[in-house]
Amino acid sequence: MDKVKIIATIGPASDNEKEIEKMLQEGASIFRLNLSHASKSYVIRVMKAINKAKTKLKKEAVLFLDLPGPKIRTGPLPAGKLDIKGGKVYSFGPEGEIPVSEKIVKSVDIKQRILLSDGKIELKPLKRDGRNILVKALNSATLLSRQSVNASGLVYETKYPTQKDIEGIRFGLKHGITTFAISFVSDKKDVLNVRKIAGKDAVIISKIERKDAVDNFEDIAKVSDIIMIARGDLGLNMDIAKVPEIQEKLIMSANKLSKPVIVATQMLESMTTEIMPTRAEVDDVFTAISEGADAVMLSEETAIGQHPSAAVKMLEHIISLSKPTPSSKNYPVIDERDALIDSAVSLINKTKIKDAVVLTKSGRSAFRLARFRLGVRIFAISDSKSVLHALAFGRGITPIRIKKLGSYPAEPLKQIMAENRLRRVVLISGLETSSRSKESIRIIE
Ligand code: PEP
Repeated sequence: MDKVKIIATIGPASDNEKEIEKMLQEGASIFRLNLSHASKSYVIRVMKAINKAKTKLKKEAVLFLDLPGPKIRTGPLPAGKLDIKGGKVYSFGPEGEIPVSEKIVKSVDIKQRILLSDGKIELKPLKRDGRNILVKALNSATLLSRQSVNASGLVYETKYPTQKDIEGIRFGLKHGITTFAISFVSDKKDVLNVRKIAGKDAVIISKIERKDAVDNFEDIAKVSDIIMIARGDLGLNMDIAKVPEIQEKLIMSANKLSKPVIVATQMLESMTTEIMPTRAEVDDVFTAISEGADAVMLSEETAIGQHPSAAVKMLEHIISLSKPTPSSKNYPVIDERDALIDSAVSLINKTKIKDAVVLTKSGRSAFRLARFRLGVRIFAISDSKSVLHALAFGRGITPIRIKKLGSYPAEPLKQIMAENRLRRVVLISGLETSSRSKESIRIIE
């Protein structure tokens, strides 16, 4: 009823029709392609496989592109790799054995540790040494060329989005993909710049993975369609022990703003190689659901893991056993629409009707209802493809497309009720365009 959505990242372990079919059958309804790793021809191949699987199973699924953003990386290594030895001192900078730009050297806070390669290598800065920093390696590992750098104080490339992101957006739009996740956003300006390029109909998922994005969260969320708590980079850019509290606060804040929120990364990480998750991972998924996440995301588990569909199945199982947690919050009533949704919540609670149908132009009415986590199914009817894509991320929401949205779509309504065996529904019309009935609630039998 209160279905939390499952996002599966596609990669070499799952990029074929058979695996995609299995993941769809096990409960995934959204797929992610990470443009940091995927070439354009790869995206086209995966798109075709998803479309075939959808047609065969008569299931809906949304595909989105995750754009790399201004990730900070080390430079190329002369031998392609460097064996870092724990305890040894290295030079970190434009002339160093660990090559990075002068801009990076200037901006890092040398009182804090520096992490390379997604945290696999930890460096302790000792002192500045001309244009470089002398650092002590705290562990041994092999550094490859062009690996990620995470450190406190890092100044990112100022131009947002990057040229690579712009190419990704244009490529996606050309091939009918309108949903984009954007990485390392820092403030609302970054999101608005993407919107200018992607157009008003694009669905923008802002990834929160930097401290300044956490600080500017409300402003970012207000101009985004969807939020992703990208815990991988967040845990590298900030004190890892603060991530659970940040997650809880951001979910609460996104719910308040009626923006769907995804919790991402390491949800069932051990299933990349094992057939069972750890108890702690199951608990982590449960916590995200209880806190009010709309969707949970698998990354390496499905992209490069040994058991992609088993990971989806496990996630679905945990979701199915997590009881809906009705929100006791009194969300602020800012406009008439909020008041209408409040009335619908009261009607649903008092009549015990289990299904709601929402006619929605922008998706907002459906999201405003969904955030109450009432444990009802929400069928959200819209005539806009991009709105339907955004609705697909909303907890408990089933998006339904009709040709033209009117104030009372009698025929589609009849069909939805017959197909889903609905006897009584609360019908909410949040339309802004209809001149006769603007906003209404009624019970339909
Ligand atoms: C993350 O950092 O948690 C994340 C989702 O981003 P990516 O997988 O692109 O690193």
